[in-house]
Amino acid sequence: MQEQTKILHHIPVDKLTGAISVPIYQTSTFVQEEPGVHKGFDYARSNNPTRKALEDLIAVLEHGSNGYAFASGLAAIDAVVKLLKTGDEILAVDDIYGGAFRLFTHIYQKFGIKVNYVDTSNIKKVEEAITPQTKLIWLESPTNPTLKISDIEAIAKIAKSKHCLLCVDNTFASPASQKPLELGADIVVHSATKYLSGHSDLIAGIVVTRTPELGEKIKFIQNASGAILAPFDSWLVIRGIETLQLRVRQHSENAQAIAEFLAKQDVVQNVYYPGLPSHHNHAIAKKQQKYFGGVVAFDLAIDDKEIASKIVSSTTYFKLAESLGGVKSLICLPCEMTHKSIPSEIRYQAGVKDSLIRLSVGLEDAEDLIADLKQVLGAIKTSFVHTV
Ligand SMILES: *Cc1c(COP(=O)(O)O)cnc(C)c1O
Repeated sequence: MQEQTKILHHIPVDKLTGAISVPIYQTSTFVQEEPGVHKGFDYARSNNPTRKALEDLIAVLEHGSNGYAFASGLAAIDAVVKLLKTGDEILAVDDIYGGAFRLFTHIYQKFGIKVNYVDTSNIKKVEEAITPQTKLIWLESPTNPTLKISDIEAIAKIAKSKHCLLCVDNTFASPASQKPLELGADIVVHSATKYLSGHSDLIAGIVVTRTPELGEKIKFIQNASGAILAPFDSWLVIRGIETLQLRVRQHSENAQAIAEFLAKQDVVQNVYYPGLPSHHNHAIAKKQQKYFGGVVAFDLAIDDKEIASKIVSSTTYFKLAESLGGVKSLICLPCEMTHKSIPSEIRYQAGVKDSLIRLSVGLEDAEDLIADLKQVLGAIKTSFVHTV
């Protein structure tokens, strides 16, 4: 059976009524026949049938053993960090998602968990940065917003030889494109807010483990800390996953056309998209991803925040907003939005210039999206002439 068939038919038909859509069990508790005798559900923080349908589905989709759904991507990340104890170290990708940086640095550092940030696209640097205390390697691939790629299989081998866990935040690639557990990772996390749900209509997080033993530990933390996903939101994520493969294929096709268009514009300096042969890590992306994804970033030949700000405020179909992975296209200016709290020298070291613009390419027709950018960049060209 092929993947899409397997996914659609892993979603159970309701035994009681035959409902083809998973029922939303909006309940806090479950009536027991005798104390401790029940149908597998006792209290809805511990388990809920709608959430369980999602958790079983995501485990299949990521080729893992166990899946768990959380109230947000950050709650999912938080659950993984809780596997560690005081004195342990995390080795993390240097251009990590800002919210994960904030959690690691401002919450966990004070409990004695240290974090080393490393350019994980360079395997040598990963090997050099591991210490006897390193218990968790944290990757994102591709990263945000410059879409840096790390070789997951090579880093999984290092993690295994050093007896530490490898967790991959698979939000940007999505499981339609990349299966980190197959490449040797131990844990995958997602902000299901993005591609998994796919319609910009909820906040949710996912953890999937490779082994049942690790799964039990995450399950314990999920129940003990309590940041679970609600039944209705679980249902929406299931509905999103039904079309994930189709959406990611089309997001990627549109993004490739837009990246190729941008690469030809004189007003554009760099285009960041793993599907372009000019991308630094194109070969590794090709090896470990089925699609190159829907996020494209570019910066301007004149690195000017005012001009970039004007571009992101002038598009018609690309709506100015944070987030990504939804059916409607979004545009954002990281230096003023997602990366505003990062000091500018550090931001520049990560390649995020003042004029860097990030697109989350949606499912509109690519011709219309290109026409939208063409018109805005054309207007900017005139202002470039005036500036020079
Ligand atoms: C959005 C995002 C998160 C955080 O997820 P929330 O659902 O917003 O809590 C984590 N990692 C990546 C890569 C993200 O894009």
